[in-house]
Amino acid sequence: MPLGRGDQGDARGLRTVEEKSPAGPVDLLIFSCSGGSNVGQISNQAAVDLARDGKGRLFCLAGIGGHVKAITEATKAGEVLVAIDGCPVHCAKKTLEHAGFSPQVHVVVTELGVEKAHNLEVDSAATRSVAEMVEKELEG
Ligand code: SF4
Repeated sequence: MPLGRGDQGDARGLRTVEEKSPAGPVDLLIFSCSGGSNVGQISNQAAVDLARDGKGRLFCLAGIGGHVKAITEATKAGEVLVAIDGCPVHCAKKTLEHAGFSPQVHVVVTELGVEKAHNLEVDSAATRSVAEMVEKELEG
């Protein structure tokens, strides 16, 4: 199995996209900026929650930034790429674009009314809003 594919975990008992989708596998890869602020950590938690809910696979943005071949190749095989950024700096989206990828869905936590602060507080209501926005964008 190439690096980064499904590594979020059968070992942890998480459901895979294939198991959740009767229509067949949907390769939906989720990248969060996971930055060092409240909004960065909310982006990360929303991505984790979406993956745990079987909506997609949490993928390795650092591997994209580092041009790690296996992760880049696995990302090329993804059908839908989701980028979740904490703030308007758009690190996740820019990292993907720098490697030649264009995320079809891009959600920014601060655009949902969360003010950026340099703490690591993860507000669960904000996390839910971000995950819901991703789902809404995927449906649209
Ligand atoms: S998008 Fe904003 S919160 Fe996320 S890593 Fe970049 S600067 Fe930090």
